[in-house]
Amino acid sequence: MLKIVNSLDYGIDIWGEDNFLIKGSTINLNYKKQPSLLEITQSVRSRGYKGPLLLRFPHLIKKQISTLYGEFERAKEEFNYQGNFQAVFPLKVNQYPNFINALMDVSKAYNYGLEAGSKAELILAMSHTPLGAPITVNGFKDKEMIGLCFIAVNMGHNLTITIEGVGELQTIILVNKEFNAEREHPIIPKIGFRIRLHSMGVGMWAKSGGYSSKFGLTSTELLDAYELLKTHNLLDKLWMIHFHIGSQMSNIAPLKKALREAGNIYADLKNRGAFALGAINIGGGLAVEYSQHKHAKEINYSLREFANDVVYLMKEISKSKKIEEPDIFTESGRFIASSHAVLIAPVLELFSQEYHEKSLRLKTINPPLVTELYDLWCSLKRSNAREYLHDSLDHMESLLTLFDLGYIDLEDRSNTEILVNLIIKKSILLLKDEGTDELKMLQSQIQERYLVNFSAFQSLPDFWGLKQHFPILPIDKLDIKPTNPATIWDITCDSDGEIDFNPDLPLYLHDIDINKDEYFLAFFLTGAYQEVLGMKHNLFTHPTEVSIEFDEQGDYRLNKIIVSQNIMDVLDDIDYNTDAIDKKLKRQLQSSKLINQAQKDELLGKIYLYLSENSYLKTIQANNEDSNFDTL
Ligand SMILES: *Cc1c(COP(=O)(O)O)cnc(C)c1O
Repeated sequence: MLKIVNSLDYGIDIWGEDNFLIKGSTINLNYKKQPSLLEITQSVRSRGYKGPLLLRFPHLIKKQISTLYGEFERAKEEFNYQGNFQAVFPLKVNQYPNFINALMDVSKAYNYGLEAGSKAELILAMSHTPLGAPITVNGFKDKEMIGLCFIAVNMGHNLTITIEGVGELQTIILVNKEFNAEREHPIIPKIGFRIRLHSMGVGMWAKSGGYSSKFGLTSTELLDAYELLKTHNLLDKLWMIHFHIGSQMSNIAPLKKALREAGNIYADLKNRGAFALGAINIGGGLAVEYSQHKHAKEINYSLREFANDVVYLMKEISKSKKIEEPDIFTESGRFIASSHAVLIAPVLELFSQEYHEKSLRLKTINPPLVTELYDLWCSLKRSNAREYLHDSLDHMESLLTLFDLGYIDLEDRSNTEILVNLIIKKSILLLKDEGTDELKMLQSQIQERYLVNFSAFQSLPDFWGLKQHFPILPIDKLDIKPTNPATIWDITCDSDGEIDFNPDLPLYLHDIDINKDEYFLAFFLTGAYQEVLGMKHNLFTHPTEVSIEFDEQGDYRLNKIIVSQNIMDVLDDIDYNTDAIDKKLKRQLQSSKLINQAQKDELLGKIYLYLSENSYLKTIQANNEDSNFDTL
């Protein structure tokens, strides 16, 4: 049965992976001295960094890496698997320095590497992967990019070029001639074949796999590529078979199908004469549970099942095809990165004040139906709530018709709206255990709009583009039952920057007075894909970020703070001549005939202050006007 008033835990046991816990009124890290997100947020803000904040937790990156390796090592042992397990991080998932540096730092014990899909990513991989740790290079490549791969192996890197088409292989052969013509001992990158599978992925990102996919070699191309390597005496370089069936695989069945297909291709090539083949790369796709509601869970398998299936299937295929068990590579990105980042955004305003009793403008003589609404509201109780609710909805219809026909005025109409709203709200509370569809529907009518200081385009682009849900909850007041069905508005001027109240996946927030209380929302699992896909719609930029690290005593430290870009830097980024803008603003102010010199100087000071800050909002409460620089 649907619960009308939300429980207090916001589904943390579904998506939280024990990374956080609710302690009293706050949500805390389940690590070391368990600081609350509120405490961390306030200590960042007390240093003057306001607006939205991106908190990074390197210990959660470490946890994901050790969980991934741990599960595969366990599965290897369980099935007595002889090949190695190795992993690389696909850079496209998050290339930000404070993530990548932390990632390389916490993964030292694992020989963890990086995967690159473009020249810039390849440069990152070459400069951040320890020598010997694997680098894989996927995606379309030109001669220059392949040249970079040759340079990397000349430096001593352990690099595999995965080819997407036979043309790339021809380029490799050409580049090899140029690099190694004069050399007695040619140094050549290892080569992988990305295969085009029959098997399709599932979910929103399924297009990376399957026969119509943009990527990989068909059976015919595989045979052509094999012959080409043989002709050019390069078969000793062919060592990896690679596939990737898509991100956020909600179901394990397509992966198993793909593994059988890829495993048999691997075995066939190996038995045909590809003697150096030694690794199968299963790509990424390991999913993350984003749901806050049990009935809407996104995944039907565990990492344990995933690891078992991969190891077991490869073992079976190797046995039946009589080949050595290959090394298993993964390129999981989302699984590694998503949990490490939490966006914290201050609520600026609630839009529902008009529906308070104090806003009623009752007259000495009201239209009889308004009087009746008022009486219904006053005598509403559990036993009559359903009946009175229906009566009030009926009255509202009649009153709105009376208004359209000119029989009642705007004040009567406003009283109608307020009273019906109050009646719905109270009925929902009184009838909250009943959970009917009607109540569900009514909730969407009385939802509260929370204006939140962030940009969904910048910080949750997958919500904007793909309606991907991210867990949301307030970081305080978690000991109080939230009763407001909530819609979240971001501060962009775009109606897509709105997370609607969804009666099937309801989000409830607290009734708060922003003039008295700070109220912050946290958006979890934003560490994968969101940062680099984020766009500067309305010129809102990457929020101020900070890494939360722990010292020996278990106390947290705020490290590696990167402040959100200021307005001039944002304009400079899109190639405005900021000097010219600066001069123009100054000239316009100086030549103004409306104000005197002292006033001009004062306003000039203000402009410079504003230009040195970012675009996110300050308080928008009128009664905070004089504390103008008290940023939210
Ligand atoms: C995107 C991508 C990945 C990462 O996928 P996740 O779902 O984030 O694990 C891995 N390999 C390749 C080739 C990719 O394109």
